[in-house]
Amino acid sequence: MCLVDGPHIDFDITVPVVVIGGGACGLVAALSAHDHGAEVVVLERDSLPRGSTALSSGMITACGTALQKSAGITDDNSELFAHDIQAKAGGKVNPDLLKAICSGAGPTIDWLVAVHNLNLVLVDGPPYPGHSRQRTHAPPTNSGSDLMADLLRAVEAADIDVMTNATVNKLFVEGERVSGVLIERPDGSTERLGCGALVLASSGFGGNPDMVASYLPEMAGAIYFGHEGNKGEAVRWGQALGAACDDMGSFQGHGSVATPHAITVSWALLNSGGILVNAMGNRFCDESLGASELAATVCQQGRNVWSIIDKRLHDGALRFPDFKALEQLGAIKSGATAADLAHACKLPVDVFEATLATAGKSPSLTAPYYAIRVTGALLQTQGGLTIDSNARILRSDGVALPNLFAGGGAAQGISGSDGTGYLSCNGLLSAVTLGRIAGREAARQVTVSP
Ligand SMILES: Cc1cc2nc3c(=O)[nH]c(=O)nc-3n(C[C@H](O)[C@H](O)[C@H](O)COP(=O)(O)OP(=O)(O)OC[C@H]3O[C@@H](n4cnc5c(N)ncnc54)[C@H](O)[C@@H]3O)c2cc1C
Repeated sequence: MCLVDGPHIDFDITVPVVVIGGGACGLVAALSAHDHGAEVVVLERDSLPRGSTALSSGMITACGTALQKSAGITDDNSELFAHDIQAKAGGKVNPDLLKAICSGAGPTIDWLVAVHNLNLVLVDGPPYPGHSRQRTHAPPTNSGSDLMADLLRAVEAADIDVMTNATVNKLFVEGERVSGVLIERPDGSTERLGCGALVLASSGFGGNPDMVASYLPEMAGAIYFGHEGNKGEAVRWGQALGAACDDMGSFQGHGSVATPHAITVSWALLNSGGILVNAMGNRFCDESLGASELAATVCQQGRNVWSIIDKRLHDGALRFPDFKALEQLGAIKSGATAADLAHACKLPVDVFEATLATAGKSPSLTAPYYAIRVTGALLQTQGGLTIDSNARILRSDGVALPNLFAGGGAAQGISGSDGTGYLSCNGLLSAVTLGRIAGREAARQVTVSP
């Protein structure tokens, strides 16, 4: 049982705002609650907070920021931003929630930079596919680890407590109100922490194979490439309290992860002439559909899918550390001719030669050829607890639970209903922006006098 009914719990200590999860959403929620005058603590199961955020490229989309303006981009706005997200998600995103996120993202980035000194820049170059303007902000290194380090530095500077090695196992409830949480330590000991308001920032359920099999059957058994500690507790706590969930079939996937090396192979190679072939040497998809869209399709082909490129693409990709690592690990096979490569990959020579000859991609691949064995992976689940535009968790009848908030991977997403609706950077956009809203609203709840 994940809820404990207990009106008279003797808590070890009580903190007005408690945040579960120390990824981007949780740390931003804590900064926001603090800035709105509430005492706040973050509870994190790991010894060092990382989350999927540390595994990401740290890229956050936002419009109307000071960084966008100083790069001369003055014609972006939240309507255009929301339009781009809806276009990718087939119009299936809750418009009120999307409006709150798209209009809140710019001020959130400006606040993180100006008030909490986060080192973010506007990414150079053209916008990512599907974005009408360049609106991607990231640490200069494009590193999620650096984003986490910077957020932790800001949280420490604000004197906010982050309790690590603190896994929340159960919630104490009085009716629908959460009165506190049960924390389990690695040695099995437990602590009871009371709260006035609770923010669920413990992300999605990618690290829970049973929930993946149940909600995302097409990705059951796929490699999970996100944070292993994201086990779906937020959804289970919320459901036990009568909360609704939305978009549970939605996910961010990747159809080209080198196996068994577990390193993503840039989809740009497939957009620039590369092709995917199965164990029979046949193409089985239109690679231009995209990385997330094809994750399940690649999984369906089994563990013997090859990403085929040529010398032009191979040599160009060697400047990227991940690709270089693949070469050093011996993950890249080569052949002077199509037949040589087919032999190296144990593909039927005739079929593979015909596949290359009829690929019809522009530019076409030319000898010598290279191949990397790839599979499909789940990066991040995108469905979760139904929330309103103030990040309050809603019951299925639309009524908000009294003191419970969610954001990031714990909350419903903005990526439609399956693996095809994820527009690049939707994950951190939702984590950071809803984190700020949830922290603010939780603080308001505990600081407003009755
Ligand atoms: C390889 C990869 C690349 C990506 N690149 C990008 C990108 O560039 N841009 C983008 O927008 N998105 C990207 N994403 C998605 C993005 O990383 C996530 O959407 C985002 O990090 C979610 O943030 P979060 O704070 O909700 O969750 P997380 O960062 O996963 O944090 C959740 C935290 O909660 C903790 N936790 C969980 N359960 C408990 C519990 N019971 N008790 C205590 N603590 C708990 C976990 O340990 C974890 O630290 C990427 C994802 C992956 C896997």
